[in-house]
Amino acid sequence: MIRMSNIHKYFGRLHVLKGVSLEVNKGEIISIIGPSGSGKSTLLRCMNQLERIDQGSIEIEGVIVEAAGDTGVKVTASHPEVRATYRKMGMVFQGFNLFPHMTALGNVIEAPMLVNKMAKDDAVQIAEKQLAKVGLLEKKDAYPSKLSGGQKQRVAIARALAMNPDIMLFDEPTSALDPELIGEVLSVIKNLAQEHMTMLIVTHEMGFAKEISDRVIFMDDGKILEDSSPKEFFDNPRHPRIKTFLEKML
Ligand code: ATP
Ligand code: MG
Repeated sequence: MIRMSNIHKYFGRLHVLKGVSLEVNKGEIISIIGPSGSGKSTLLRCMNQLERIDQGSIEIEGVIVEAAGDTGVKVTASHPEVRATYRKMGMVFQGFNLFPHMTALGNVIEAPMLVNKMAKDDAVQIAEKQLAKVGLLEKKDAYPSKLSGGQKQRVAIARALAMNPDIMLFDEPTSALDPELIGEVLSVIKNLAQEHMTMLIVTHEMGFAKEISDRVIFMDDGKILEDSSPKEFFDNPRHPRIKTFLEKML
């Protein structure tokens, strides 16, 4: 459903993605692992157009939504089509990014009302369903300052789900959490996995990645070094660089 081909990304003179190619199929759960600065966040941000690529192309559901550089590939989607496509991607960040002046419910109804022009009653209905799904319906009137980190992140997940995404992108969703709060967020993501939501998850939680993923991708220095099944990846990584990394993590 998503095909990123030979993606290059620069920040000024810093070459951050060095020819990354990646296909994501419907229902697939992919973990992205790798050292700090290897380009994991940039890859996700290029995928949902928070960053523009400098070379390569991105195809979603058979249409080219972005193309850059001298590859000869041209965008085939119309502008509204491109926008609609990116609306079908939900993203959850390390730092929650909730609106502090809105309640949990307010945070979740915002995009359906503003972006999808949904009537408030309908948006509330969807938001309550999503808050119930992450186990936080009883906190719907609480402001973010009154929620724990784990609860904030679960609201952020509910907020992304309220847009009815085809794919969820998670960028280190538990890295900012105290250890005792990590489990509740991972368990929400595991429930989504059971529903076969397509997901890309940047994570340092190796046990979780091993348990939940269909594929594990290892990034190093702007490139994908390995793309394999979790069993292969954790039991028998091909690349010495990955062995060293895993030894440090486990
Ligand atoms: P981490 O595990 O620390 O989150 P990462 O693998 O997600 O790392 P990226 O955030 O993708 O790495 O960053 C890759 C490189 O690009 C780093 O050297 C980073 O400093 C640089 N970089 C990222 N975003 C920007 C930006 N907006 N402007 C300039 N440089 C950037
Ligand atoms: Mg990152």
